[in-house]
Amino acid sequence: MSNITELICIVCPKGCHLRVDENLNVTGQGCPRGIVYGKAEMLNPTRLLSSTIKLHSASMTRLPVVTSGEIPKGKIFDVMSVINSLEISAPVKIHQVIVKNILGLNVDLVATRSVSS
Ligand code: SF4
Repeated sequence: MSNITELICIVCPKGCHLRVDENLNVTGQGCPRGIVYGKAEMLNPTRLLSSTIKLHSASMTRLPVVTSGEIPKGKIFDVMSVINSLEISAPVKIHQVIVKNILGLNVDLVATRSVSS
């Protein structure tokens, strides 16, 4: 019996329904990027992680942040633990690095908006 994994490609809004077999053969893709996505999702699924951290400011209490690149899905809870422990004081500039090379994953945690003090 063949072992098929069904995925939805998230690379573009079309959202093709992919099927990946045990030999990493991908079908259902609307373009070649779906093949790359389907294989990567089976071998080492990754995601951008966006969240907020505690902010000391007169205008806002949370600062939106995002990882500067994708991280392994298996590390999301570890990175969220770091994010949940962070506090920062305004002013903050958009794209400011809040944590460099978070957990040694070769991505930074960066601010996604500017906040004046
Ligand atoms: S397979 Fe290609 S067309 Fe389909 S959702 Fe992925 S990127 Fe878009």
